[in-house]
Amino acid sequence: MKKFIDFICVASLVFVTFSSGGCSKLSGIGEASKYEKIVYAMDTIMQLDIYSTDPEVSQKAEDEIMRLDKMLDRGDEESEIYKVNHAGKAVTVSDEIVEIISMAHDVSVKSGGAFDITIAPVMDAWGFYSKSYHVPSDDELDVLLKKVDYSKISLDGNTVTVPDGMELDLGGIAKGYTSDRLMELFKRDGVHSAIVSLGGNVQAFGRKPDGSLWNVAIQDPEKPDSYIGSVSIENMAVVTSGSYQRYFERDGITYHHIIDPYEGRPADNGLSSVTIITESGMLGDALSTALFVLGLDGAVDYWHTYGGFQAVFVDNNGKIYITAGLENSFKCERSYDIIQ
Ligand code: AMP
Ligand code: MG
Repeated sequence: MKKFIDFICVASLVFVTFSSGGCSKLSGIGEASKYEKIVYAMDTIMQLDIYSTDPEVSQKAEDEIMRLDKMLDRGDEESEIYKVNHAGKAVTVSDEIVEIISMAHDVSVKSGGAFDITIAPVMDAWGFYSKSYHVPSDDELDVLLKKVDYSKISLDGNTVTVPDGMELDLGGIAKGYTSDRLMELFKRDGVHSAIVSLGGNVQAFGRKPDGSLWNVAIQDPEKPDSYIGSVSIENMAVVTSGSYQRYFERDGITYHHIIDPYEGRPADNGLSSVTIITESGMLGDALSTALFVLGLDGAVDYWHTYGGFQAVFVDNNGKIYITAGLENSFKCERSYDIIQ
């Protein structure tokens, strides 16, 4: 029997795998076989490992990813989000867009605006979308920040209004929504077990084929080729936001892609990475971005107030903190603090 993936690298393209790829029969889980797929979508490389009796399952999963990529890409004039952004008036949207905007709004309110999907004009000014990087001046940012305010987005049933000049960027939540949709597809399709890694978003369906828990490795922000440790999970999402994931350098300064909506600049609140462990990939995605912006103290306040997730924080000095619920599932050779 082949040796299965053990550690999954959060936020990077590859699961560390010892299998030879393709499809292979597995003992102990009926007629299920392993189906692997690499997909490029949402500006990142995604890896799917699915254990199923359905030979079409990986294609169905890829189709679902591409459907959502097309729907949520604000640069694609055909996408639903483009139409929402450029209508300049109220538009009727799908239930899916409603679900995403509602979750984003909830995390925006709870985080006091640290998470804000109206960040688009500022993201554009920094060049993160076009990849023509630029460091905006204070004056530029002052003007652009007037267009950043989640509370100005109105959502009434399926009707959404984005005021003229404002634009939604779902980059901080779209991959989490997508991994949730994949879990639903796997459930409908009778998949035995699966694990997906969509950039920094890992999500597991069930347990490993041998019945043990999945071990998801968490990257070391200082050396993204290695790991600070791992968490053991089943049916959970493990979502990391880190300053090392997307950045550019100018005049010796590194500028990363997680923007503090109050400043319009890369968040600089002492953290290098935030990993959220929770059932919903979408919630995990929004929270990892939000808590990165809040910094450790704000993140811990959020956890105490709202709960519903566990987290691993790495600060700019490499110090590791975990929330108390991870005490038995976090494995790490370095020292770490447990937040009660
Ligand atoms: P993530 O990698 O999930 O932390 O999300 C980062 C992406 O979310 C960026 O590439 C932007 O598209 C978007 N983003 C950046 N800053 C914020 C923020 N403060 N709130 C919401 N979305 C953001
Ligand atoms: Mg996110």
